[in-house]
Amino acid sequence: MTYDLIVIGSGPGGYSAAVRAGQYGLKTAIIEKDAKLGGTCLHVGCIPTKALLHTADMWHFATNSGEEGITIEKPTLNFPKVIERKNGIVSKHAKGVEFLMKKNKVEWIKGFGTIKGPGKVEVKTDKGTQVLETKNILIATGSEARMLPGLKPDADSILTNIEILNLQAVPKSLMIIGAGAVGVEFASMFRRFGSEVSIFESLPRLVPVEDEEVSKELERVFKKQGIRVECGAKCDQVQKVSGGVTMKVTLTNGKTEDVKAEKLLVAVGRAPNAASLGLESTKVRSERGFIFVNEYQQTDEPGIYAIGDVVAGTPQLAHVATRQGMVAVAKIAGKPTTPINRNRIPGATYTDPGIGSVGLTEAQAKAKGYKVKVGKFPFMANSKATILGSHDGFVKIVADEKYGEILGVHIIGPEAFELISEAVTAMEAEATVETMMATIHAHPTIYEAVGEAFQNVYGLAINV
Ligand SMILES: Cc1cc2nc3c(=O)[nH]c(=O)nc-3n(C[C@H](O)[C@H](O)[C@H](O)COP(=O)(O)OP(=O)(O)OC[C@H]3O[C@@H](n4cnc5c(N)ncnc54)[C@H](O)[C@@H]3O)c2cc1C
Repeated sequence: MTYDLIVIGSGPGGYSAAVRAGQYGLKTAIIEKDAKLGGTCLHVGCIPTKALLHTADMWHFATNSGEEGITIEKPTLNFPKVIERKNGIVSKHAKGVEFLMKKNKVEWIKGFGTIKGPGKVEVKTDKGTQVLETKNILIATGSEARMLPGLKPDADSILTNIEILNLQAVPKSLMIIGAGAVGVEFASMFRRFGSEVSIFESLPRLVPVEDEEVSKELERVFKKQGIRVECGAKCDQVQKVSGGVTMKVTLTNGKTEDVKAEKLLVAVGRAPNAASLGLESTKVRSERGFIFVNEYQQTDEPGIYAIGDVVAGTPQLAHVATRQGMVAVAKIAGKPTTPINRNRIPGATYTDPGIGSVGLTEAQAKAKGYKVKVGKFPFMANSKATILGSHDGFVKIVADEKYGEILGVHIIGPEAFELISEAVTAMEAEATVETMMATIHAHPTIYEAVGEAFQNVYGLAINV
């Protein structure tokens, strides 16, 4: 039997692409090596972290509700129950993905997929090996946590995003190496659960892909919350010792310090899952496992496409993998499609305060030669933020002075990851600063702060 499409990997990229292929009437199979469908995002990424972050919010409220006039006597945190709830959410959605495969007539083939030249995929399971034939292959094998040289994760003290999601108690102290989205989310989560948290980043700032002012604000608030932040720090000599982990840190001022904590989270980036994928049997071009594609997700081998975290130069985000899948499958099915515009990809980081951003940072816009105009509005001056008791952060608009083109929007503050959607839509619709100034924002809402920031590109915000 020949398939129209075989998808390897069932993360948000692979399963969404398989659904779309089913909707287009393509004979489709999806190969997954793990026991459940859903990939990193569903099992050990986006969904479990946000489930725990939600509980961290609830716990923070339960222990800080005095100002609202609510007294909660001796709240207790049943952490195994917290983990159980998180697991329940993951399982429910894994079943949902399974249902979507059935609904769209996608065949789920369990096992490890290896490409055996164009049009051939071998699937290996405990029970044996079979080779399938297909007109097209979509590589959606994702990524896994990078480790520092010489270190091995374990369930006890040296953790990646996988092990930390199954702790049965809140650690008294947690050190984190790496202050990208994964590192800062866990820092924010465990600080709110009550851990002593320290975060070490070798680059000069937290969340280095964000606008510099966002990084500064996050560092200020993290420090206010009691998180130790050390940027420009080098960590080495990690050792498991009785009661936890020690390491040597060379701080930005050149001093070295021995630090110790009950647990260490290593969050230093994600490596592509390309080992044993059989790329050498094709013309697919890759570097250190990252696969090169064109704007339609086509590799150098006709009939082989790649999407998601395994693709070179792609922001490693679930919604990027999904959208790339839509582009690839449309191309395979001969349907019209629009390639991704790199400048319109939202980023969302679920710290407290949250971060949402899209487009160029101020520094990137200036480096590209734009005459930049910036509009900022602080949540301090937003009445809904006062009602929520969440005053940290701001909205920052980066615009081109000449035509009022919106080049980037950067938000740090309450629900920033939700607020950014307005900016993404505005940019996709090619709205200008003027359009957004004339857009009515309901009152009282936190997204009024976005409207006010647009007004402030021309110094016309009302409430500051
Ligand atoms: C802690 C954490 C939090 C995150 N939070 C967010 C967030 O809030 N928002 C966001 O957008 N992104 C988030 N991400 C990133 C997001 O998880 C990834 O960008 C996304 O999962 C990538 O999707 P993918 O489809 O490319 O691959 P993956 O989700 O990695 O899935 C790949 C699948 O392929 C399977 N596979 C690999 N090789 C083979 C093979 N040879 N044969 C068969 N199967 C194979 C794997 O088992 C896996 O199931 C987070 C990541 C982490 C680690």
